[in-house]
Amino acid sequence: MKAYTYIEKGKFALVEKPKPVLIEPTDAIVRVTMSSICSSDLHIKHGSVPRAVPGITVGHEMVGVVEEVGADVTKVKPGDRVTVNVETFCGECFFCKNGYVNNCTDPNGGWALGCRIDGGQTEYVRVPLANQGLNHIPDSVTDEQALFVGDVLATGFWAARISEITENDTVLIIGAGPTGICTLLCVMLKQPKRIIVCEKSEERRRFVQEYYPDVSLITPEECKEFVMNNSDHGGADRVLEVAGADDTLRLAWECARPNAIVTVVALYDKPQTLPLPDMYGKNLTFKTGGVDGCDCEEILHLIEEGKIDTTPLITHRFPLNKIEEAYRIFENKLERVIKVGIV
Ligand SMILES: [Zn+2]
Ligand SMILES: [Zn+2]
Repeated sequence: MKAYTYIEKGKFALVEKPKPVLIEPTDAIVRVTMSSICSSDLHIKHGSVPRAVPGITVGHEMVGVVEEVGADVTKVKPGDRVTVNVETFCGECFFCKNGYVNNCTDPNGGWALGCRIDGGQTEYVRVPLANQGLNHIPDSVTDEQALFVGDVLATGFWAARISEITENDTVLIIGAGPTGICTLLCVMLKQPKRIIVCEKSEERRRFVQEYYPDVSLITPEECKEFVMNNSDHGGADRVLEVAGADDTLRLAWECARPNAIVTVVALYDKPQTLPLPDMYGKNLTFKTGGVDGCDCEEILHLIEEGKIDTTPLITHRFPLNKIEEAYRIFENKLERVIKVGIV
């Protein structure tokens, strides 16, 4: 089968590999029906993910059909349509039991697929700990509707959940890339009083304007003043920082009102400073971290009920043998791309 593979820093290539086989009784083999490219794949390509193992198939956002299961897999059976979770987790350890699956202490846990072991930009993938890592796609939900459940949408859902948003809140979201838009969709479910989205790219602002016209859109330059003038208590009640640019962490806490919650979802290239003297007396609560993809079943229900729709994000589709072209477009942000589906 063809597998898009991390060869060395700066180089991915479509190579021929044998079809994966079951190794552990908790494994499942999934035939990939659709996958996507994530900015984390680009981080691997650029050598900024030291854990990534050269030779692995990349890709960790995918849906498919279960082909084969190990003896201990009870949750799914061959023929089931499934989403694949970006996180591999045991479901048994202290962190898993508390829903912090990102911190699973199992040696195979964490972000494994498409990083430390073969991932999904291919035809078949071996999913370890399949009872935890796979979720049934309801019959009425298409592959395209379910594509982001295991990664960017799980991230947005988690970010909105931990931000403790109420209906009286003014919520500021910084960054409207794919994860920012997924975060926006999940924040919208909480029905806050106002949502303000700050995004520097005009193309992305236009995209949000077109699909979510009730949202206030602003540039980083006008952000602070706009938020101060359009919130009830001298700043946003909740700020979700999903941009990860050089100065967006500062922008996030500066736009927050005293006693606000600032949720940091972004992954930064460089260390960030938290100038505590400057924020003294603001009594902020910061929440940080990587996605806990433990709500996939609930997210799939919301999609089934028509409450979340991420399909507008899929702006491009390519067959697996054209994946080089898909990367070229995604990596260079050409043709107003948001996300690419690989079929
Ligand atoms: Zn990702
Ligand atoms: Zn665990």
